[in-house]
Amino acid sequence: MKTELDLNRRPAAASRSLAGLSLTALEDEIKSLDVPAKPARMRAKQLRRWLHHFGSTEFSDMTDISKELRALLSQTYHLNRPEISEHKVSVDGTQKWLIRFQPGVEGESVFIPAVSKTGALCVSSQVGCTLNCKFCHTGTQKLVRNLTAQEIVSQVLIARDALDEWPATVHGRALSNIVFMGMGEPLYNLDNVAEAIDTMSDGEGMSIGRRRITVSTAGVADKIPELGARTGAMLAISLHAVRDDLRNEIVPINKKYDLQNLFEAIRAYPDLSNARRVTFEYVMLKGVNDSAAEARDLVKLLKGVPAKINLIPFNPWPDSPYECSDWGTIEKFADIVKRAGYPSPIRTPRGRDIFAACGQLRSESIRKSAAERRREALGAPSLKGKTSRQSDKPFSL
Ligand code: SAH
Repeated sequence: MKTELDLNRRPAAASRSLAGLSLTALEDEIKSLDVPAKPARMRAKQLRRWLHHFGSTEFSDMTDISKELRALLSQTYHLNRPEISEHKVSVDGTQKWLIRFQPGVEGESVFIPAVSKTGALCVSSQVGCTLNCKFCHTGTQKLVRNLTAQEIVSQVLIARDALDEWPATVHGRALSNIVFMGMGEPLYNLDNVAEAIDTMSDGEGMSIGRRRITVSTAGVADKIPELGARTGAMLAISLHAVRDDLRNEIVPINKKYDLQNLFEAIRAYPDLSNARRVTFEYVMLKGVNDSAAEARDLVKLLKGVPAKINLIPFNPWPDSPYECSDWGTIEKFADIVKRAGYPSPIRTPRGRDIFAACGQLRSESIRKSAAERRREALGAPSLKGKTSRQSDKPFSL
């Protein structure tokens, strides 16, 4: 075991970051350095506190870990976050990061400050998406890949760095909630999402309580029980239509799990109560799903489910095939739902000017074929157009 005392030594280029790893993953890394199991567990706990409670980026901060082990760690690992390709701040205070998880794999997260001191970070679980919801910009980007648990957690690290909110338990912090409402379908990446939630909610680390974490799904009904059992997170459903024919069209996963299927899974979600409601997201599409009759059908559909309905004015994107409902129509819809006893706030669009609002997230990353990746590794020019579903929109990588 090499233990020279050089805390400033730069890690080898191929070394990986420990920041954002779960407690178990940290422990495995330490064991791989030939530290015996029992001390490895203790060291992992110390590391977790430095990394996720204090947000340390230097091994030299970690004064309760022996110099020898710190030296060994710094030779093997680093504590960097993934690179930020772009950081934008909206006139309304919303912030968006385009994060390069690896070359060619970029995803976005968005911080939405609330009026009170709290705020939510909207994280991505995948780069691209397989779902093809008709009104969603992310849906026009093919799935590139699932994000790892570490990559999901690193989105919180990046936001906390920018907000200067270390240690994690600082009083009255702005980043108080997490919503899995960024790019991707979280329930198609449930193992990594569940591991990320364990890390985010760890009281010795990031300390974001499970009830402050909401996972939104377009309706992967058969994974909803597992989500409840494994994560204890709050559930959000992207509903958007109250009839199967329309939902089949605009949220095509409905063809696999229809409304009846979906509502059976929702009703069985653990611990639902008026204090712990299911959030329903309903995008207001002019002349498509916004009639008073549909509002009344929504109320019927929700019968017996403790629910809150977020009415989302449709956020346009280049070449999007819909328009946002008129304000009066949205208010009328909201009134009908409210009169039936369900809170139904109309979401003020946030961060539209920086393309950070619901459904506007999209990166230019594309899934490359194995042949393309080999060619790139050899330094050959890429086969332009071959794998492309890239749009000609004015985004840059
Ligand atoms: N795949 C998950 C997570 C994405 S959440 C899900 O579907 O729930 C993003 C939310 O924004 C979803 O409710 C989505 O339906 C909604 N959305 C997508 N495009 C939108 C748009 N253009 N305007 C408003 N909301 C949109």
